[in-house]
Amino acid sequence: MLEKKARILIVEDDEDDYVIAKDYLEELDEYKFTIDWVATPNEALKKLELNQHDICLLDYQLGAHNGLTVLQKATEMQCRVPIIMLTGQSDKVLDKAALDAGAVDFIVKSELDGPRFARAIRYAIARQEVQKERLERINVETQIRSKDRFLAHLSHELRTPLTSILGYTELLLDSDKAQPVCHELNIILNNGKHLLSLLNDVLDLSKIAAKKLELTPTTFNLNSFMADIYTLMQVAANDKGIELTLVSTTALPEEIHCDPTRLRQVLINLIHNGIKFTDSGKVSVSVSAKLENNQYTLFFEVVDTGKGIPTEAIDKIFQPFEQVEDTISRKETGTGLGLAISSELANKLGGGIAVKSTEGKGSCFTLSISCPNLAGTKLCYLSLHRKVTGEKIAAITPLSGRVLVVDDVADIRMLIGHTVKTFGLNVDFAENGKQAVEKTLSSIEKGHPYVAILMDIHMPEMDGKEAVVEIRKRGVKQPILALTAANMKGVKENLQTLGFDNLVSKPIDKMLLYKHLSLVINAKTTTKCAPQEQVNLQQIEKQPQYFMLVEDDIDAAQITQILLESLGVKVEVVHTAQACREKLTSRKNWDKILVDVHLPDENGLELAKYLSTQNRSKEIVIVSGAEIENAAITSHGASRAILKPLNKEKLLELTL
Ligand code: ADP
Repeated sequence: MLEKKARILIVEDDEDDYVIAKDYLEELDEYKFTIDWVATPNEALKKLELNQHDICLLDYQLGAHNGLTVLQKATEMQCRVPIIMLTGQSDKVLDKAALDAGAVDFIVKSELDGPRFARAIRYAIARQEVQKERLERINVETQIRSKDRFLAHLSHELRTPLTSILGYTELLLDSDKAQPVCHELNIILNNGKHLLSLLNDVLDLSKIAAKKLELTPTTFNLNSFMADIYTLMQVAANDKGIELTLVSTTALPEEIHCDPTRLRQVLINLIHNGIKFTDSGKVSVSVSAKLENNQYTLFFEVVDTGKGIPTEAIDKIFQPFEQVEDTISRKETGTGLGLAISSELANKLGGGIAVKSTEGKGSCFTLSISCPNLAGTKLCYLSLHRKVTGEKIAAITPLSGRVLVVDDVADIRMLIGHTVKTFGLNVDFAENGKQAVEKTLSSIEKGHPYVAILMDIHMPEMDGKEAVVEIRKRGVKQPILALTAANMKGVKENLQTLGFDNLVSKPIDKMLLYKHLSLVINAKTTTKCAPQEQVNLQQIEKQPQYFMLVEDDIDAAQITQILLESLGVKVEVVHTAQACREKLTSRKNWDKILVDVHLPDENGLELAKYLSTQNRSKEIVIVSGAEIENAAITSHGASRAILKPLNKEKLLELTL
């Protein structure tokens, strides 16, 4: 039998009685006791104060003193050691007094050789163990809570200055003044963005370590998903002059159920590494599926012809911050966190990452994930049909007007938006079909309709097909182009029947996108439209929106104000909650109040709650450097939270 260890304090002024108690304790063979003995109340209290014992046996009669006084004092000083009172003879009044004073039990000394004593000891120890476990649990929970709070705080504190760094740099890059220092500004911008991605990585790692990383699985179209990744990675491959291919080597389920954000994160990390560590040659991605026990395993194999990894380093690269080469001597940038996060994510997605590599020849990383076999899902091959036009984009005639880009993937939205801007067009964004409908209608109401809408098909909330039907139902005639990876026969006709003007194949080819856009914009934008637009624009300018910005960081407040003003918004900036309360009544109605969560004099959420009761603002928006749960946002009267660093795109969304 396993012996349990316990530390016992015996408070007894008679040495013979102490020896008897000690002997009987040692007879209880299921325990191994460490016994401390003291004879006076003072010594007893000194020991009890330390809370180091699992049990205390306290004699009722300590010379001239009464054991009850020791018991009362121990209880007063919140001693956690269970105390069993030892008495000379059974006395009901005394026993009750002992229990009332905080003893867990009482034993007559003549019972020390009997089962009652053994039982009392066993109960007291069990009770102490439960108590210890509870305390340990509370300790761990408190530690996790304070670590979470620390990380949320750190994230906020780091993102706030990044707003200024990235914001001012982008602002300068947009202006004519930047020309002579464009190169240096781009270095600042890239490093700022790198810092932001590093911050995101560290937060991911800490979430994984605290087992707080939750997946959000949804059902999505695999072909379209892979086309987006291909479009994004194509930019990096083109920049390095490396060929990137993507094929399926078996038929794949058309739709899969998995967390698309996390799967994309892992795939992008693997493909990006392939491109990063390959100087010439190619990176080939192939996808295959295996069905077993009604469960799919999908394999994504990323093969590169790059520098490879020495055998002895292969295990190391999955450890956080581990890189094959010395960070200082090598030319590639990176943190060494990507694979550590990716392999944890791959495990969570029901699979893992395997790697084979030959130094000097190249590497092969295989990601496997597990997905349920969805009833009724068709099987098909990836169809990433991509026409390479080879035409130089420099030859284009600039287009004018504002285009709405609708896609649920932020990176893709930004990429397409960026491409569209290079055609001379202005851009608005929507994340799903519902937002697209709202923004389209409101742009018409404001007399400033979009010259074209670029609409992804597979999106959560409301997909592109539903959105186009809804938009056409309202009599909107603006050209709408579908962005889709599906190029099977009949798809185009189907989409046109729903109300799309045409489709642009994903992965997006810049020249083809330009051709499609210029075709629909030139066909539908009549010159008559222009003066009308200008009149309406002037009207809009006469009625600017009024925002109040509550932000204690002076630099972040200033760049946010500049960006908002560049969008035609009138902004009042205050740096404290108190100043916000005072400023609130200076206008009857604010269009929006943007509240930073960390303010010097009050929690931003509490301020939001107060503001929501004052009915002086159409909308309250929380600005935060850490993610905030939806329930917390709405319970404090705010409608949404935006994550720092703020930039023009995020602010533009607020003005629409
Ligand atoms: P990072 O790329 O930011 O350094 P990762 O965790 O993604 O971090 O990768 C860790 C290290 O593994 C890299 O620094 C590199 O030394 C090595 N590595 C990863 N992928 C490849 C690859 N495809 N070819 C060669 N080395 C690689």
